[in-house]
Amino acid sequence: MRVVQKFGGSSVADAASIKRVAQRIVDAQAQGNEVVVIVSAMGDTTDELLDLAQQVSPQPRPRELDMLLTAGERMSAALLAMAINDLGYTARSFTGSQAGVITTEKHGDARIIDITPGRIETALGEGDVVIVAGFQGVSQTTKDVTTLGRGASDTTAVALAAALGAGYCEIYSDVDGVFTADPRIVPGAQRIPEISYDEMLELAANGAKILHLRCVEYARRENVEVHVRSSFSTKPGTWVKHISEEESVENPIITGIAHDRSEAKVTVVGVPDRVGAAADVFDTVAAVGVNIDMIVQNVSVADNTTAISFTLPQADGPRAIAALEAARERIGFTSTEYDDHVGKVSVVGVGMRSHPGVSATCFRALAAADINIAMISTSEIRISVVVDVDDVDAAVRACHTAFGLDSEGQAVVYAGTGR
Ligand code: ASP
Ligand code: MG
Repeated sequence: MRVVQKFGGSSVADAASIKRVAQRIVDAQAQGNEVVVIVSAMGDTTDELLDLAQQVSPQPRPRELDMLLTAGERMSAALLAMAINDLGYTARSFTGSQAGVITTEKHGDARIIDITPGRIETALGEGDVVIVAGFQGVSQTTKDVTTLGRGASDTTAVALAAALGAGYCEIYSDVDGVFTADPRIVPGAQRIPEISYDEMLELAANGAKILHLRCVEYARRENVEVHVRSSFSTKPGTWVKHISEEESVENPIITGIAHDRSEAKVTVVGVPDRVGAAADVFDTVAAVGVNIDMIVQNVSVADNTTAISFTLPQADGPRAIAALEAARERIGFTSTEYDDHVGKVSVVGVGMRSHPGVSATCFRALAAADINIAMISTSEIRISVVVDVDDVDAAVRACHTAFGLDSEGQAVVYAGTGR
């Protein structure tokens, strides 16, 4: 069988780790598989390179930043190939560009548009283990090297698994799989043996960092089964896959709880109650390229104005506020408020489609823990609340307990970075 394995930064953090991982790869090859490995940069290399760039230049050109960052993955790929060669197997490392990862031209956040794995096929045909540097490709138009966004080696792995027709894609990090909540917050969190693409997408989109969001989107679209597991143990991890309606009735109503401390809340006060006011507010924010998440509009008060609150990534807060303030007179609102002392807690599970009372259980649990809810939003399989950032941990624990997800044992956290 053809297998694709991806090793995160914590699995290749130093020479000893690289040798350990090499042995694991060779074992898969010795069992008669064709093995393609995608590797992240060693340990904190990407952060260190970003830091170094900052010291040299406060505003580096994105093209040069991508040239710099892709070097991290190139190092670990070459080192891993050396370690495999020393175990008596032949391995060949490739940059993303050499591996045929074709992307859009946007530096730092390029999208994969095609994979042309000719060189990988040739190397596999010659019996080599193939090692590919993750998180990078080459732009079709500019011919420049691009990166795919932080954490995107997961996406490289799934894209290659799809292009190569692999049986499945293994994603190795330093945790045993996807858990019902972050084990550092909930010691009784449990490993989820299998999870549907839709639920994994909701968890990844709402703060679970174990898998890159676009990797899950890709896997769902191409129907690639993903096995998320630890390179520090041989235990089974979590299978992310298609789960039929009949199979899912056996599963718990709620699959997991995600949390996110990276958002902020903007409130636009005194918005005139007229047709098109909300459109004006959100046009203004969209025009500066800010993606928003939750929205709440209050009912009109006596003076015919309303307040509109929304959440957005903290990094985009200043830009959104500046744009809104510049449009204040034209739109006719009174003022803006900005609060980055917030967090979002999301309860996810396909079971809530067919079970009443899930919202009530969630809000009752938060009330019992004395937690005030600032905003609420839902999808068919998710309920999210915005709370004070200091209440996030307690809110995650309250929901985890309320939906019966607590286990007796303690989750094992090897290093716990999830890289
Ligand atoms: N090394 C890159 C990062 O730290 C990509 C990855 O690890 O997936 O974001
Ligand atoms: Mg990752």
